[in-house]
Amino acid sequence: MTAIGTTKSAGNTLRDVLTRLQTEGAALGHFNVSDQVLLKALVAAAEETKLPVLVGASEGEREFFGARQLAAMVKSERQESDLPIFLNADHTHSLAKALEAAKAGFDAVTIDFSALPFEENVARTKEAVQAIKAVNPSILAEGEIGDIGTGSEIKEAAQGGRLSTPEEARQFVEATGIDNLAPAVGNMHGMLKSMVQGKARKHLDLERIAQIKQAAGVFLTLHGGSGTEDEHFRKAIAAGINIIHINTELRVAWRESLGESLARDPNEVVPYKILRPVVDAVKQVVSSRLRLFHGQTVNPEMVGSVA
Ligand SMILES: [Zn+2]
Repeated sequence: MTAIGTTKSAGNTLRDVLTRLQTEGAALGHFNVSDQVLLKALVAAAEETKLPVLVGASEGEREFFGARQLAAMVKSERQESDLPIFLNADHTHSLAKALEAAKAGFDAVTIDFSALPFEENVARTKEAVQAIKAVNPSILAEGEIGDIGTGSEIKEAAQGGRLSTPEEARQFVEATGIDNLAPAVGNMHGMLKSMVQGKARKHLDLERIAQIKQAAGVFLTLHGGSGTEDEHFRKAIAAGINIIHINTELRVAWRESLGESLARDPNEVVPYKILRPVVDAVKQVVSSRLRLFHGQTVNPEMVGSVA
């Protein structure tokens, strides 16, 4: 079984890209897709910026898209564009779903038993790590600790709260054999209304990120990145974050641009004419986030355009 990202020559696997970006002081952008419109936007952003991207799909998104169908499509986009486009099975809550993704050719799996007590989280994550590596030894296994809430949606009130400690991070990595760790460091899934309106931003516990990085000694993933202060992204990468997840910002851009496109001409019924502006709107958000994660200058108006 060969993962999508390992079909290329050596030096271009997901692990290689993460190692290279870490030495460059950059982070890999992870963006979720539910359909081909979102996937097209991601590929267009990768083409525009010439930067690597990690396509993500949660269990719900995989169910809608089809795990094998998505893997086939990402593989096809990668081959045609010759760009480092990788695929992650985001928030996977069972051994069966982790195995399904590994067998479909995903490059990485986010194993998420973080809602369980610590010891049970360790045991079930370890079991899943061993199972997916038996399918494909080069697959990247991610584990999660702490509470950052669920669902990349617009929320009334903040969720989550229990932050990860460096000690539990060290114990978790040692006991499970994961390749990358997703800790709770002030991040949260979804966005508050005030964040969508651009009136508020998330702030991260940067000192905790640095301490966890030192204790864990593996790649670190920041979930729930949507609506985070730009400066905090930069400092979080400097403190040791390697992968940053953005989902809600894309969903907001998708919905707003789709609404505008539909309202523009009530008689328009051609799907690709209605959907083309949606691809462009989502692409803009992805490109500006990618540039930020790679230390490039970002037009502040563009980032604010998710509001
Ligand atoms: Zn997440």
